[in-house]
Amino acid sequence: MRAARLPSTGSDLVVEEIPDPTPGPGQVVVKIAASGVCHSDVTIQNAGPGMPSVPYFPWTLGHENTGYVHALGDGVTDFEVGDAVAVWPGWGDGTCRVCRAGHEHICPNVSYVGVTQPGGWADYLLVPAARHLVPLGDLDPVEAAPLTDAGLTAYGAVSKVLDRLIESDRSVAVIGAGGLGQFAIKYLSALTSARIVAVDIDAGKREHALTIGASMAVDSTSDDAVGQLLNVSGDGLGVDAVIDFVGVDSTLALAAGVTAPCGAIVLVGIGGGTLPFGYTNPNQQVQVGTSSLGSRADLASVISLWKEHGINADATRYSLDDVNQALQDLAEHKIAERGVLVM
Ligand SMILES: [Zn+2]
Repeated sequence: MRAARLPSTGSDLVVEEIPDPTPGPGQVVVKIAASGVCHSDVTIQNAGPGMPSVPYFPWTLGHENTGYVHALGDGVTDFEVGDAVAVWPGWGDGTCRVCRAGHEHICPNVSYVGVTQPGGWADYLLVPAARHLVPLGDLDPVEAAPLTDAGLTAYGAVSKVLDRLIESDRSVAVIGAGGLGQFAIKYLSALTSARIVAVDIDAGKREHALTIGASMAVDSTSDDAVGQLLNVSGDGLGVDAVIDFVGVDSTLALAAGVTAPCGAIVLVGIGGGTLPFGYTNPNQQVQVGTSSLGSRADLASVISLWKEHGINADATRYSLDDVNQALQDLAEHKIAERGVLVM
């Protein structure tokens, strides 16, 4: 099969022929339809901060995978050859207390497809257990690829603040209106009546956010950013929830400064920032937490939201042979929403 592989840190990828995978007991080989191209991939390519090192070279990337069941290992009865599937990317041991509670993506023994297990920038992907697959039914796998990481991670974070946004006159700030933040804005718009504020340093992203559900956009570098966010509801109390997709010291400080009493701050971005924490800092009874990826049940919810509300990314398509162009366009911020490799 063809695979786009990273020969060494910082190199261009090379598309080459490697042996097709064959499934062992309980395993499934998926014929890849599409695999997303993500900023994490640029980080992995260059061994940047926040992502683990690849286990060996040459390495096959690709963690946003969809396709069709191609071959079943012994004992797999949940799927048939030809079924359209999304590949849930966080593969735990399936047996520990964390996994049994449904949080396999943060299992102490987790491995991630395309990061610490060979990924889907190839014709076929070996999936080590059928439970990592979510059926797509008659949905188009190419359209679904960005849902498996970007769409899932944004939903995982949004689901953690929905209880703060049920009553009227509620508001939520999304810090970082890039690929993940855009998904979050779309989910919040579909699932709540809250006022959604997009916060970003980039004017283009702020403008785009206003077209997909945000009712207000704030430049986080402006002198009155805090004042604008405190007055979203007109009472000076701030917003009921903040989702921070950047996660540096300055964005966390902004979140802490503008979250209303009893609000919530959810950190998603791996910018490495920290937040001072005390009895009244952030505000009284504010809950502070993190969100990583999303559970397999969350991915099923994301696929339902796509069916019911059409929530997805505008995907820029590339062929596998154009993988280096896709990575370059991503690094240069030339892709408006998400990029996908179509096999
Ligand atoms: Zn586990």
